[in-house]
Amino acid sequence: GSVLLDEVTKVYDPDGEHVVAVDDVDLRIDAGEFITVLGPSGCGKSTLMNCIAGFLEPTSGHVYVDGDRVEGPSERRGVVFQANRLLPWKTIEENVNLGPKMRGELVEGRASELLAEMGIEGTEDQYPTELSGGMQQRAEIARLLANDPDIMLMDEPFSALDALTKEIMQEMLLEIWEKDNRTVVFITHDVSEAIFLADRVVVMSAAPGEVKADIEVDIPRP
Ligand code: ADP
Ligand code: ADP
Repeated sequence: GSVLLDEVTKVYDPDGEHVVAVDDVDLRIDAGEFITVLGPSGCGKSTLMNCIAGFLEPTSGHVYVDGDRVEGPSERRGVVFQANRLLPWKTIEENVNLGPKMRGELVEGRASELLAEMGIEGTEDQYPTELSGGMQQRAEIARLLANDPDIMLMDEPFSALDALTKEIMQEMLLEIWEKDNRTVVFITHDVSEAIFLADRVVVMSAAPGEVKADIEVDIPRP
């Protein structure tokens, strides 16, 4: 999945206040690229990602995925947030199967395969709150992979994790990316995380949300 942002601006207007969250951003992401979007809190990273996800409509400009205009969310674009969206009243297996079940594409054993791939085999019958934060994020990524997305949109997915867990998750994510060559857009305010993970770092400036730099990272991965 390739992504093209064409002069994307997003203005919020709470109570007549005019907040320019994303200001005239042009950005092209090739299929299979792993990019990070780096910038301080409040610079418009989440807003930008929500426009790519189709959760938000730009105030002006357009987002295209594989040449088609984005007009709403799609499971082809999977999203992971810092706080996971696992349904607490459903088991891990039921959570992972939500998308496939809705589409009538449930494959017996697929959830277990994905959980094993994420290193949390055996958690099928547990409930999200029974797992540690790191394990919940693993389950969340398994749920995303169950929808076989072309594009993974990740909004500070590891920011709430301790340093060691974070490192393990970063390496796991790189393995997933290298295996299936999905496009990854990864948001972070952490400079070292941005550089460690990505081929390319897009740096956003604080208000208004403009792209300040677009840097190729030329450091071999471990
Ligand atoms: P980041 O992800 O970089 O922290 P956000 O995209 O969340 O940045 O926010 C960018 C700016 O838009 C901030 O000033 C924030 O306060 C504002 N903002 C975000 N969401 C809303 C909203 N729903 N209504 C009004 N202002 C918002
Ligand atoms: P946190 O994200 O809360 O810091 P971690 O994901 O780092 O927690 O968990 C540390 C380790 O503890 C995990 O790798 C896992 O082996 C173990 N663990 C934590 N919670 C559970 C659980 N509910 N069941 C089994 N093992 C667990």
